[in-house]
Amino acid sequence: MKKIAFLFLLSFATLQLQAQDKPKTAKTSPRIIILATGGTIAGSGESSTKAAYTAGKVPIDDLLNAVPQIHDYGKITGEQIASIGSQDMNVVTWLKLSKRINEIFKNNEADAVVVTHGTDTQEETAYFLDLTIMSDKPVVIVGAMRPSTAMSQDGNRNLLDAVMVAASPKSQGKGVIVAMDEKVFDARDVTKTSSTNLETFQSRNFGPIGLIYDGKVNYYYQSLRNPSKKFDVTKLTSLPQVEIVYGYADASPQSVTGILGSEVKGIVYAGMGNGNFGEPVGKALAEASKKGIVVCRSARAGSGRITLDNEVKDEELGFVVSDDLNPQKARVLLMLSLTETADRTKIQQNFFEY
Ligand code: ASP
Repeated sequence: MKKIAFLFLLSFATLQLQAQDKPKTAKTSPRIIILATGGTIAGSGESSTKAAYTAGKVPIDDLLNAVPQIHDYGKITGEQIASIGSQDMNVVTWLKLSKRINEIFKNNEADAVVVTHGTDTQEETAYFLDLTIMSDKPVVIVGAMRPSTAMSQDGNRNLLDAVMVAASPKSQGKGVIVAMDEKVFDARDVTKTSSTNLETFQSRNFGPIGLIYDGKVNYYYQSLRNPSKKFDVTKLTSLPQVEIVYGYADASPQSVTGILGSEVKGIVYAGMGNGNFGEPVGKALAEASKKGIVVCRSARAGSGRITLDNEVKDEELGFVVSDDLNPQKARVLLMLSLTETADRTKIQQNFFEY
């Protein structure tokens, strides 16, 4: 009788372990490096019930110590890359992060990487890394909407989930992914949709690619936009300057002419509807395009696509369209494209492929 009870308990325990995406032995335990950049996930406030806090205050070691359960999923180590609110994220830090992740995989230092990040520009960093990391190994970006000192803060759970997702063999070959609020998103498609709500991340055109629940991740589909050719940033210390111009009713051409300086190599126009502009702005964009600045039409609408040569004579004006990329992601792809070419046909091709 005792033996039967023991066998029952053993098989129940095995099932429980299999039900979670935990590695079964120390040998198969993945090595995961957590690269911290700051953000609300490392934010600290004076009160657990008030909203005021400072982002990027809590160092990586404290973040990891707060969630000891992450060590169930692999051999975890942490590195501090930056300590900033992601509103201060910048090209120099993107390049540092991308170079470090490529180096980690090249030197076989880890099997997966998790990046902790502020949510404001998480989508841009995710897409930048997606376009520049030359490995099939999982890179998971995570953040939080409430600081670590808040009541029912979301950072600890999000971090645990992100580590679990990074450790899961199912996450291989998915490109860079964002794990937030029990969902997994493709870096290219995800966007922050609410300035304050917990459930802020969405992929408005396509939805999440996976769902997280109870220590397990399930994937449902995968983006076809994950080209094997990445942008090589190894030797870069800066990127060509690309500015975003916002479209609105009765906008003056100054919104374009005011930003033109010798350094601006590209403009992403966040247009109305299908990337539209009123006449004065249209003329200013056409002038900029004639002067050699690459103009990319995108949209402020938040979902859908920008279609080539429909309402706007793109080819005649030398404009490119962002397809379904939002303005901030279109800027990332345009900056990277401009490191390789100024040829608009090739750049347009990038927007249809990446
Ligand atoms: N401002 C913060 C940041 O992006 C917001 C957050 O992390 O949720 O760093």
